[in-house]
Amino acid sequence: SIVVTGATGQLGRLTVEALLRRGIPAADIIATGRDIAGIKDLADRGVTARRADFADADSLAEAFAGAEKLLLISASVPVDERVANHRRVTDAAVAAGVSLVAYTSTTHADTATTVIGATHRETEAYLRDRGIPSVVLRNGWYLENYTGQLPQILQHGAVVGAAGEGRISAASRADYAEAAAVVLTAEGHAGAVYELGGDASFTLAELAAAISVATGEQVAYADLPVREFAQVLAAAGLPAELAEVLADADLGLSRGEMYTDSGDLRRLIGRPPVTLTEALAALQPL
Ligand code: NDP
Repeated sequence: SIVVTGATGQLGRLTVEALLRRGIPAADIIATGRDIAGIKDLADRGVTARRADFADADSLAEAFAGAEKLLLISASVPVDERVANHRRVTDAAVAAGVSLVAYTSTTHADTATTVIGATHRETEAYLRDRGIPSVVLRNGWYLENYTGQLPQILQHGAVVGAAGEGRISAASRADYAEAAAVVLTAEGHAGAVYELGGDASFTLAELAAAISVATGEQVAYADLPVREFAQVLAAAGLPAELAEVLADADLGLSRGEMYTDSGDLRRLIGRPPVTLTEALAALQPL
């Protein structure tokens, strides 16, 4: 069986659907998360839903029983628990005799200066240390990080960030999910490290311009110092820790850490990834 963690979340659900589309029988897929009530529809289609909490080793042992391959989708906050959680998942995968772990990391995790980057670097290192065959999917930024904010962006007439002139190779969750499904179902990916991102990178000023073109509304990019951006995010209602982590991520964007021209995503999914322009067009009419 193929186990997908985070299947109650957005990327995990899309990956389960991509596995089904690629012909994996529902009975061979184990979808996990802490709150599996939300994936009852997948269970109704024959997918096995099991509760798995990264903080609870026993739950992982039960959830991973019978697994041949496993997709470890990183958990997000609290950040200081991430690495310990990912280690627990890795240990459970080793104990279950899993033959391949695919892990959703981040662009240039080996050199990234961000808080998030450091957690991915440590998780990648642990997978190597444990000696379990793995595929590292260094997922870039999601297009949905921006398209999902469109109502607020239009309301303020501004994209607000701290990414400066940094270029961002964003792609859709669905395309990252497709890539994950490919490495879980095709041979020859063990040991690979893929830098995944869209082919058409953009700065946040270019994002604002693309939104203006797509919507006919005037949208500008307001670049803030990192501290101010964190305060804006917190004032908008984000929990303090998340605001800090996201502002720090923008600092990484400003340094070009979420840019890649590897072409890995295009090659894995066998077609050009969905572009920002296409994603904005798909949202019309607003
Ligand atoms: P979601 O928030 O939609 O899903 C996160 C998933 O992680 C959920 O299924 C959640 O399940 C699961 N999860 C969280 N904590 C735990 C835990 N302690 N034990 C077990 N499962 C847990 O995120 P996405 O699907 O959009 O993205 C996937 C991951 O990618 C994120 O978790 C984050 O690490 C990273 N990310 C990447 C971004 C990017 O632009 N590349 C942007 C934002 C996040 P449940 O709550 O049911 O336990």
